[in-house]
Amino acid sequence: MLIVFTGNGKGKTTASLGQMLRTVGRGKRALMIQFIKGPWKSGEDESYKRLMPDLEIRKMGLGFVGILGDTLPRAKHKEAAANALATFEKELKSKKWALIVLDEVNVAVGLKIISATAVLKAVKKTPLETFVILTGRDAPASFIKAADLATEMREIKHPFNKGELAKVALDF
Ligand code: ATP
Ligand code: MG
Repeated sequence: MLIVFTGNGKGKTTASLGQMLRTVGRGKRALMIQFIKGPWKSGEDESYKRLMPDLEIRKMGLGFVGILGDTLPRAKHKEAAANALATFEKELKSKKWALIVLDEVNVAVGLKIISATAVLKAVKKTPLETFVILTGRDAPASFIKAADLATEMREIKHPFNKGELAKVALDF
């Protein structure tokens, strides 16, 4: 089962966290592997520790790519993304997880630090009983085509557009 959460509205990562919580309630385990996201902390990076080892979040990105003071060579970002995908393949094989979320992988593809083909090749190895969620704006058409379920979060209103800053517990 392949699920895609995309679109420019808020809710992609948090919907995935909701699915993870639901999975744990059914006595199964859920893992989130984060592409791009660097060391900055979000609320869920603390909450998951209370639910370990049933729910786990692994940050495998190096932060912003090519913007906001990013000084890392692109090759480093590519290496991080390749590592994240290799971790996904390894964890799929472990059969430990009922759900694996590849958070922001759609954006990683958009930034060309990993190819859609490489991601799909890995995703195709998913056992029948496992759910995989791909998140991030601008999902490539090939992801939507391969998906069993795809939802677009469409922005209707967001306080950011009134110049408001990101809010603790709401945004991070
Ligand atoms: P969330 O993590 O809240 O579910 P998301 O995963 O849908 O958001 P991302 O594109 O990953 O959205 O962006 C992450 C951050 O940007 C979050 O702090 C989120 O609140 C904020 N955000 C999401 N959508 C918008 C938007 N349309 N305008 C401004 N900020 C946004
Ligand atoms: Mg997100």
